[in-house]
Amino acid sequence: MEVLRLGNMRWLKRLSKVFAVLAVMLFLLVVTGASDTLLFYARVARLYTRSPDTKLAMPLENISKKEVADTWQAPRGDGRRHEGQDIFAARGTPILSATNGYIIKIGENNLGGQTVSVVGAGGRVYYYAHLDSYAKNIHVRDRVTTRTVLGYVGTTGNAQGTPPHLHFGVYTLTGAINPLPLLSDRVAPTVTRRQRNQLSVL
Ligand SMILES: [Zn+2]
Repeated sequence: MEVLRLGNMRWLKRLSKVFAVLAVMLFLLVVTGASDTLLFYARVARLYTRSPDTKLAMPLENISKKEVADTWQAPRGDGRRHEGQDIFAARGTPILSATNGYIIKIGENNLGGQTVSVVGAGGRVYYYAHLDSYAKNIHVRDRVTTRTVLGYVGTTGNAQGTPPHLHFGVYTLTGAINPLPLLSDRVAPTVTRRQRNQLSVL
């Protein structure tokens, strides 16, 4: 009887130690900001469970889908094929996110120059390259919508010496797909009913 009670005490002590360790870990998570990281991964994990967007907003305003010349899989020297679409516009034209999602990468690479990657529903990654500059105040982990400016059209990376354009890529979990069939024209800013009434008065 006495032995059993002693055993219980030991077990309780062990349990309280486990709780103490958990409490310290939780405290450290909050202090170091790692809880934000966990929250971010939880949000991204939730995005993965959703079905991918079937309609993407044109990343550049005032450009229609018709104006994009299809260069998907066009040969690009050294055996490479074009894994996306190029959308031409004046240098400095704002680039808007084509989807809702989270920024997962902002950085430079040899081919893409200055790039931004956004993860959207279904874990698809949307890749924006050759940026002249990044939008101010964008950070990795930021939530974005189709109204978020990511950066500005340029010629960085291997686009140097070409007319300024956005390279837009869409990556599924198994590889790149053609963004063009998914792209849809942005609706021009709508005139509100009040403005319309005012116009009809004038
Ligand atoms: Zn390209």
